[in-house]
Amino acid sequence: MSVETQKETLGFQTEVKQLLHLMIHSLYSNKEIFLRELISNASDAVDKLRFEALSKPELLEGGAELKIRVSFDKDAKTVTLEDNGIGMSREDAITHLGTIAKSGTADFMKHLTGDQKKDSHLIGQFGVGFYSAFIVADKVDVFSRRAGAAASEGVHWSSKGEGDFEVATIEKAERGTRIVLHLKSGEDEFADGWRLRNIIKKYSDHIALPIELPKEVAAAEGEEKPAVEWETVNRASALWTRPRTEIKDEEYQEFYKHIAHDFENPLSWSHNKVEGKLEYSSLLYVPARAPFDLYQREAPKGLKLYVQRVFVMDQAESFLPLYLRFIKGVVDSNDLSLNVSREILQKDPIIDSMKSALTKRVLDMLEKLAKNEPEQYKGFWKNFGQVMKEGPAEDFANKEKIAGLLRFASTQGSEGEQDVGLADYLARAKEGQDKIYYLTGEKFEAVKNSPHLEVFRKKGIEVLLLTDRIDEWLMSYLSDFDGKSFVDVARGDLDLGNLDSEEDKKAAEEVAKSKEGLVERLKTALGDSVAEVRVSHRLTDSPAILAIGEQDLGLQMRQILEASGQKVPDSKPIFEFNPAHPLIEKLDNEQSDERFGDLSHILFDQAALAAGDSLKDPAAYVRRLNKLLVELSV
Ligand code: ADP
Repeated sequence: MSVETQKETLGFQTEVKQLLHLMIHSLYSNKEIFLRELISNASDAVDKLRFEALSKPELLEGGAELKIRVSFDKDAKTVTLEDNGIGMSREDAITHLGTIAKSGTADFMKHLTGDQKKDSHLIGQFGVGFYSAFIVADKVDVFSRRAGAAASEGVHWSSKGEGDFEVATIEKAERGTRIVLHLKSGEDEFADGWRLRNIIKKYSDHIALPIELPKEVAAAEGEEKPAVEWETVNRASALWTRPRTEIKDEEYQEFYKHIAHDFENPLSWSHNKVEGKLEYSSLLYVPARAPFDLYQREAPKGLKLYVQRVFVMDQAESFLPLYLRFIKGVVDSNDLSLNVSREILQKDPIIDSMKSALTKRVLDMLEKLAKNEPEQYKGFWKNFGQVMKEGPAEDFANKEKIAGLLRFASTQGSEGEQDVGLADYLARAKEGQDKIYYLTGEKFEAVKNSPHLEVFRKKGIEVLLLTDRIDEWLMSYLSDFDGKSFVDVARGDLDLGNLDSEEDKKAAEEVAKSKEGLVERLKTALGDSVAEVRVSHRLTDSPAILAIGEQDLGLQMRQILEASGQKVPDSKPIFEFNPAHPLIEKLDNEQSDERFGDLSHILFDQAALAAGDSLKDPAAYVRRLNKLLVELSV
């Protein structure tokens, strides 16, 4: 045992303690994944070394093939992993193995329910990495030394996975990290060559560097113990460099888990090699589940970038637009320089053309998923639909393609589910319908009963019901799809085009003419509250409705702006009334100006309520209504 100096005991960050506790108690059904996680870390550490050594070759300390070794001791009940990657300094070990660096961790932990089944699922989204060692070990020793540091600057990190860990400074001749797992009683099955080999084959075959296990060899004559010979057990070539036809689904899935730090299989992937003016390979994945930090600004996003198979950076953001930030994967370019930086990536025209090609790849992959696996696509939409809705605003060039991927609730879809695509909508549109009708609002329940839909119900025309906060904003970027323009049914003067027959139109004109007097009287009574008063063609059951002016902000946008403290320009609605409604007939016959005024204000306020808006003067509404009720009851 080497000499240990500057020994100290430190406490884990609170979140680590929680995570460890959870892991030890809930990941028991799939214990063997600890090896995958530790090998994945070791492989990352080697990638980092290879990259840093490009500019500082001395870090390689004389060469030695880069690799991972896994060994075991049946008697001592230990499993040991050793890599000759970048290694850790004492400070690295304290921060990296004592805290969780991910932003939003505390928030995430709040979501844990205490119900182990549910939580083990959540933890899959989080990714557990190094701490998974404690699923099988009751003590973990890490011996490490940063590449390029002196042998005397090694670190020994040790913990029982409870509240704290110890660190000490040690001598370590070779750079890199050795992790010794002291198996819990009952877990000694892992101290077995056959078992370890199988686990490595199963989860880590895709790891690009050799993973070696000791070979069973007989002791040479005169020696007590045989010399250890090592044998590579994985394929040890970068997965994305192999031909598609040779790669099994399981291999793609395990590779995904490695790069995405996800426990679940991806929904879909797309693997391509581009040759010609630009040369690169890409392997892009759609995760099955949104990460807990999808909406956090600092959340990791982007692809792993390799240049000629050398890892260059994680989270290279310049290859995909922001609305595809949930895509995980790898790009390996032959054209970029190995010392490319984030800043250069942002400006490089090569990257722009790669970005548009990769974006198209992703959209094609999603199209395929939607077409071939509609059930899976539903799941995708639940997880990532909100983010996809950012697409049309960000990516003008692909607007039509993105629009085709959007899913909405509708008057003809299943109750409140966002499952209607624009192509479905158009496929079942009425004959002569050359518009895509939609209505926005706050809640599905309210929107689905909106008076704005009355005429559409009567004519059997489908209307998309948009109730996500982002929807009105989204629609401001979508003007048409497949040559058909979008029409907000609550906006302007509703023109049903060919859907109204000539007779209908003529009849409507005549009615409008006959009600000119009423229109004028209402204008006077409602005064400043309205921009306009007119006869409605869109109502069958309700007496009146408020339409939004063609250029005015809708309710949703107004509320969003108000909530963010911005001043919202005052806009007045258009009051439309249903000439056939008994209340309107009554109004038309009302002699008393006072009662006419009260009744018109009540109708106006009710129309605002039905649209989900709040009343400017609720007390006045109640007063007027009560007055009428009293008159009624005498
Ligand atoms: P993640 O891999 O998701 O970052 P982990 O908990 O698995 O999280 O690891 C935390 C950090 O510890 C890593 O990011 C890395 O900096 C460091 N680390 C873990 N294993 C090794 C290793 N074998 N060599 C060098 N550093 C390592």
